[in-house]
Amino acid sequence: MSTTSTVLASTPTPRLLGKVALVTGGASGIGESIVRLFHIHGAKVCIADVQDNLGKQVCESLGGQANVVFLHCDVTIEDDVSRAVDFTAEKFGTLDIIVNNAGISGSPCPDIRSTELSEFDKVLSINLKGVFHGMKHAARIMIPEKKGSIVSLSSVASALGGIGIHAYTASKHGVVGLTKSVAAELGKHGIRVNCVSPYAVATGLALAHLPEDERTDDALASFRDFTRRMANLQGVELTAHDVANAVLFLASDEARYISGDNLMVDGGFTSVNHSLQVFR
Ligand code: NAD
Repeated sequence: MSTTSTVLASTPTPRLLGKVALVTGGASGIGESIVRLFHIHGAKVCIADVQDNLGKQVCESLGGQANVVFLHCDVTIEDDVSRAVDFTAEKFGTLDIIVNNAGISGSPCPDIRSTELSEFDKVLSINLKGVFHGMKHAARIMIPEKKGSIVSLSSVASALGGIGIHAYTASKHGVVGLTKSVAAELGKHGIRVNCVSPYAVATGLALAHLPEDERTDDALASFRDFTRRMANLQGVELTAHDVANAVLFLASDEARYISGDNLMVDGGFTSVNHSLQVFR
């Protein structure tokens, strides 16, 4: 292969050239992978997150302010999300895509009798209210433009109980409901609304429930080992990049007729009955 064809083979055809995107929770984990992939595919991106240092580092690693910017934004605060949407549109001229990715797993508590309402509220506030804020304010910019793509992060916990704590499962079912409801409203404006539901990925979220001194490489390795054994699809480990690829597809014009969908990125995990195990 010549040098030119090698370069062409390794440089993807940009799928978001000229698009402007806002990614909440884009400073780390899956959100960071989405930001990096969108950048590779030619989008201008605003990272909205509560982790200022990490967000700025991602931004600088992608060449600074020209194509990727960071704004402090707590998705539970409507004014923060509204400001992030306006900031993105003013900086880059419009808003084509919002990825409502910010989320937390919440503190482990499998017993509903001892689940604190404050903890339940905290998870719903970030995982569901934050998504509602993102949809509401993105729609404000997208409706007059008669186009746009809204993609939110749900989870395999949107389809099954027993995977996360009650609040997490409720919040992720809620994201699917909100996605369908808002897709129903915004279709007439040419705006697509979808969500993506991944199986487990070894990000900060996986260890967030542990005290900081227990978030070690060993803890991460045992999480990966456990999720690998529990997975349906064997021989492949789900990464943040795989999830980012699904988000890229839904954000791009390749998905121009897909709306109201919950795209499972789970290797079949939610399609099989794990209690029967007849094929194992
Ligand atoms: P992560 O903890 O690695 O990253 C989450 C990001 O969201 C962080 O940068 C964090 O600072 C940000 N964030 C948290 N609260 C925020 C707030 N109030 N306002 C703004 N930003 C906030 O988690 P992740 O694994 O990358 O998860 C991303 C999304 O994917 C979440 O919605 C999560 O529920 C979903 N998800 C993750 C997994 C997994 O196994 N990692 C599986 C299914 C779904």
